[in-house]
Amino acid sequence: MLLILDAQASPETIEALKDRLARMGLVPHAAGHDGAAIGLVEIMDAKTRAELAKLPGVRKLVPMPEPYRLANRAFHPQPTLVRVGSAEIGGRAVVLMAGPCAVESRAHIFEMARLVKAAGIPILRGGAYKPRTSPYAFQGLGEQGLAFLKEAGEAHDLAVVSEVMDASQIPAITEHVDLIQVGARNMQNFSLLAALGKLNKPVLLKRGLSATLQEWLMAAEYVMAGGNEQVILCERGIRTFETATRNTFDVSAVPVLREMTHLPIIVDPSHAIGVRDKVIPLARAGIAAGADGAIVEFHTCPEEALSDGPQALYPEQLTQLVRELDGIARAIGRELS
Ligand code: PEP
Ligand code: MN
Repeated sequence: MLLILDAQASPETIEALKDRLARMGLVPHAAGHDGAAIGLVEIMDAKTRAELAKLPGVRKLVPMPEPYRLANRAFHPQPTLVRVGSAEIGGRAVVLMAGPCAVESRAHIFEMARLVKAAGIPILRGGAYKPRTSPYAFQGLGEQGLAFLKEAGEAHDLAVVSEVMDASQIPAITEHVDLIQVGARNMQNFSLLAALGKLNKPVLLKRGLSATLQEWLMAAEYVMAGGNEQVILCERGIRTFETATRNTFDVSAVPVLREMTHLPIIVDPSHAIGVRDKVIPLARAGIAAGADGAIVEFHTCPEEALSDGPQALYPEQLTQLVRELDGIARAIGRELS
């Protein structure tokens, strides 16, 4: 619900209104609309709505039909900017993140960090807790991997992003990374999302394998409802009947979400398509559609990668990716950060 404020209301009237809302058990959020407004996230009955409409300082009530409130563009018309290290995601600059699927060893992640830095990319990725389909596959180096990632990031002045799979990993992940990734398989792990809502650390929320845009925004809402509004959405492909690609990249999600939410949106062409030679064209499409950035997997030797080798770019392809995405970004009035 949006309470549109009376343009003539004095600051004292607005303060009194906020006190009154608090006494009614409602939490006022700053919101924008066609004038100043207060946003309320609570579900309320007709009696409460009628009471609100009569309060001094309130010009009118605008109901919000969508169940996502804090993530709603109507609540917050300006884009949200999320800072990760030196990069700001959601502004004019397009931000890239790159690295291996998994942190494989100290030496390897250091070499990957060097290549990321040389390509002019500000954020290094690397999974330490890996959600693998098979329990027999490489599960990641765990906390040791996080320590290697952090060290490599610091050595090359890069921010780092890694996935959390379970709330018990939150202390370790918070200590080691600048951006916490929630993987597709955990998008509706509501207790994990609520726990991340208590942190003061940005969250990269990947789209669930079969999640609608609304379900995805409701997952973001779980994090935001806890007080952490630093959420970045990541389109990483969804499950369809197609088997030629790992997933189906939903490029339409980018412009459609843009209207639904103020949160930054990035794309992950690597997991979306799963095929190395198609990653760059897909990344170009995502940026052309208006994404605020892209996260991409690459590897010094994809043939020997411990996970997701077939979709990993070669280092020279990373350089090509940066060059081409810069061209796309400039064509639409943006630039790479
Ligand atoms: C990953 O980023 O390595 C990953 C497992 O991604 P997703 O959750 O999108 O499958
Ligand atoms: Mn991967």
